[in-house]
Amino acid sequence: MATVGFIGLGHMGAPMASNLLAAGHDLRVFDIMTASVEKLAAEGAQPMDSAAHIFSESVDVLITMLPSSPHVESLYVTETALLDVIPSSTLVIECSTIAPDMAKKVAAAAKEKNIALIDAPVSGGTAGAVAGTLTFMVGGEAAALEQAQTYLSVMGKNVFHAGDNGAGQVAKICNNMLLAIHMIGTAETLQLGINDGLDPKVLSEIMKQSSGNNWSLQLYNPVPGVMDNVPAANEYDGGFMVDLMAKDLGLALEAALSTQSATPMGSLARSLYKTHSIAGNGKLDFSSIYKMFGDS
Ligand code: NAD
Repeated sequence: MATVGFIGLGHMGAPMASNLLAAGHDLRVFDIMTASVEKLAAEGAQPMDSAAHIFSESVDVLITMLPSSPHVESLYVTETALLDVIPSSTLVIECSTIAPDMAKKVAAAAKEKNIALIDAPVSGGTAGAVAGTLTFMVGGEAAALEQAQTYLSVMGKNVFHAGDNGAGQVAKICNNMLLAIHMIGTAETLQLGINDGLDPKVLSEIMKQSSGNNWSLQLYNPVPGVMDNVPAANEYDGGFMVDLMAKDLGLALEAALSTQSATPMGSLARSLYKTHSIAGNGKLDFSSIYKMFGDS
């Protein structure tokens, strides 16, 4: 079994790290939130008091799961400058959703130090992280991905090689733009049905068997009372935060601008999520966009 460093033990990182522990790997964990480190330590991980401390012993692989581009740049390149202490024998798997250009920049900085780094953002949400069924969208060299497979297969069930460094992030932001669009569409559609006298459970079942079927309807219904074990059943607590979805939609728009792509639905989705955040909902799950349409 390997020694794994894990940094960023939030909604996604904590269950991913738990699965690596359960698979028998030795984990050395760090997060700026001490409580998150203590929780993993209680499961058997070794708590570290800094990111650099992870490398006081030999580490086979480092996995990071941070909120956004500035966090990743600060950890690897600028403030913490972790690339200065990571030995070239350590493989780095960077799982955060960040700008493709930042993924390329960090990978290039790693390459200068002879460190293999892949971008491997994920899809599947917190439920997928807990169940170990995430989808990984990987950018980087095939040899590094080959080396990473052992760890990725513990945390996920699908691994796609999208292309060179940054390509995993492009796949991820495309997926999340579509997710945001169909979540908003699902929310407004269900509220239309409710306003016109339908039971949202019945309407959801009908659409799941019809051409309106989509992931939000199947697994993540935004209307409270329709499904158990989704954020809507728990006042939109947990899950994937509105602020993170707004961030991902911003990344999609930046990518669209750089290639002069037309993304009218993505632009509208970003405006709606940003407005929803400004209204005080930034920390809620992204399915809470239903509150814009419903009366919950
Ligand atoms: P989160 O905010 O719950 O977790 C991020 C963690 O990183 C926090 O615990 C924070 O304390 C820690 N952190 C920040 N800066 C740090 C630093 N310098 N050193 C150590 N720890 C640091 O976010 P999350 O929901 O776990 O999402 C993480 C990433 O995964 C994001 O990029 C997000 O877009 C992506 N993602 C999230 C979901 C989801 O459903 N939550 C799904 C797919 C992808």
